[in-house]
Amino acid sequence: MLNPNLPIMAKVISKTKIKMRPESLMMSYGYKPELSEGAVKCPIFQTSTFVFQTAEEGKSFFEVAYGKRALRPKEVTGLIYSRINNPDLEILENRLCLWDEAEDGAVFESGMAAISTTVLELLKPGDLLLHSEPIYGGSDHFFKHILAKFGIHSVGFMPNQSKEEIVTIIKSTGKAENLAMIFIESPANPTNDLIDMKMCVEIAKQFSTKDKKVITAIDNTFLGPVFSHPIKHGFDLVLYSATKYIGGHSDVIAGACVGSSILMKRIKSFRSIMGTMASPNTGWLLMRSLETLKMRMTLQAENAMRIADWLDKHPKVEKVYYLGLLKKGDKQYPIYKQQCLSPGAMISFDVKGGEKKAFKVLNALKLIKLAVSLGSTESLAEHPYSMTHSPVNDELKMKMNLTEKMIRLSVGVEYYEDIIADIEQALKKI
Ligand SMILES: *Cc1c(COP(=O)(O)O)cnc(C)c1O
Repeated sequence: MLNPNLPIMAKVISKTKIKMRPESLMMSYGYKPELSEGAVKCPIFQTSTFVFQTAEEGKSFFEVAYGKRALRPKEVTGLIYSRINNPDLEILENRLCLWDEAEDGAVFESGMAAISTTVLELLKPGDLLLHSEPIYGGSDHFFKHILAKFGIHSVGFMPNQSKEEIVTIIKSTGKAENLAMIFIESPANPTNDLIDMKMCVEIAKQFSTKDKKVITAIDNTFLGPVFSHPIKHGFDLVLYSATKYIGGHSDVIAGACVGSSILMKRIKSFRSIMGTMASPNTGWLLMRSLETLKMRMTLQAENAMRIADWLDKHPKVEKVYYLGLLKKGDKQYPIYKQQCLSPGAMISFDVKGGEKKAFKVLNALKLIKLAVSLGSTESLAEHPYSMTHSPVNDELKMKMNLTEKMIRLSVGVEYYEDIIADIEQALKKI
């Protein structure tokens, strides 16, 4: 019988087992206080290794860790060594999976560690990787220069290209039968162009065979995990730079990958070998950040909508690139409606003039800090052409409207009128 003194919510849960939303579970899910002296919060398990109760136990933990046998019913994986597993990472991974409704997840010491470990595990020499353009600078270098060293080919497509055009690109490489992965970044940085996930899944199906499934992977850093759920649209893997919104305070570098348990098992084994897992301290910081993730992202997006509307009307601003400004007739509008739950908090805008004018504005900002990175509580501004996207070749920059007059803004949690006032006084300088 239910204890009549239990709070109402607990009664409801135990009677009906209602499904809780991720934001309600971020403070408690996966953590058992009775295993940690009753501490309400998960401690930092700052330990390299774990004591086995018996030699037999140690043997059986290793059998499972190295895939010699599957877990028996009711058996739980044993803790061995913090490169292989650690409670801060395991609890964090369980919580991260809730947002994307993923079967399993892995956290890494950086977004690039997540991307490189995942891609290296799943691709082999001779394979072809298709990716959207533009792509994060680190991923771009990794695909075009590092994978090439291992005989893995890569080819890009632009956000405005049709399915037919993309299929033609794949075929023109002469390696269509070796297509192994489609990797996209949507919305694209810094222009907020969307890539149609449904179309990518269809292309992957078209090039999959009985023995080989073309894997679909997305860098969901900009809108996820709150405003975009690619697994629901058929994607296999979702990657994050957790340095950005998930961490959210510009004080930690981290990454994550979530997806099916079959793929995640391979990725986690490879992570143990490469040693690219996150530290216990990083895991703990991210758990703390996840508690406020929805709240932060919701307020940041609300702020961004107001700022984008204001920028759009400003006489010294030529063009604003923001998902919230898409209108019904726009080509990207149906894709936005289909796969985004909010326009998010990344805005780019062109000032009238060139680099000189853009720099003048950037140098005049006071509240907004002049720095790369994004997704944090404080607003940040930068100049993509000469900073984050300086290695991108000029032709590609022109094709994607990335010019010297563009400023990228990551909107924080400050009061929106104060952010607007800061931009207003900076725009007055030109
Ligand atoms: C920052 C970023 C990365 C790289 O993440 P790190 O945590 O810096 O390694 C990858 N993709 C996107 C979209 C990013 O913004």
